[in-house]
Amino acid sequence: ESLKHAMNLDQFTGLYHKEYAIRAIQGGLCKYPDRQHALLVMDIDQFKNFNDTYGHGEGDKVLYQMAQQLKHAFRATDVVGRFGGDEFLIFVQDIPNQEWLVKKLKPLTALDAGGRRCTASIGIACYPRDGMEYQALFEKADRALYYAKGRREDIAFFADIHRGRET
Ligand code: GH3
Ligand code: MG
Repeated sequence: ESLKHAMNLDQFTGLYHKEYAIRAIQGGLCKYPDRQHALLVMDIDQFKNFNDTYGHGEGDKVLYQMAQQLKHAFRATDVVGRFGGDEFLIFVQDIPNQEWLVKKLKPLTALDAGGRRCTASIGIACYPRDGMEYQALFEKADRALYYAKGRREDIAFFADIHRGRET
């Protein structure tokens, strides 16, 4: 059992790896189709610069610290995965509303890495509003992330970029 569990994890961060995280998200969508859920794509800002400036080893510490911060912030029923590189995939089940989610996420978008501030951006798609299946939700969350990066915002909802504010 523990070997099976270990095979589902990203070795470096201890978060779920991409393939497992996607399966777990699809499972969650099937299990609770009547609730509201959120799919988040999160990516560290200017991480290449951070590596170039402070070294890859210091970058690894940031990645690890970010992963632990995420792991502790969500419930066991949520899914927190490393999508690869400096990108994370998070599924938050049964969200009461958008404001609740923003409040929960705000503290997770910044990190103090040995006195250096490191930030991340998050794009969000909501079930069922933005899509019914994983792939559709992922594509929208990813577009919201791109939008957030472009505007230097920490958090963006797909529904908000669609209200004619997309540039
Ligand atoms: P942006 O704000 O647009 O996200 O800029 P960025 O520099 O973070 O660009 P991007 O997300 O495209 O690049 C991810 C970088 O993350 C590339 C690589 O230098 C770094 N990276 C990926 N995996 C690792 C890792 O395991 N350890 C470290 N230290 N760096 C990694
Ligand atoms: Mg990045």
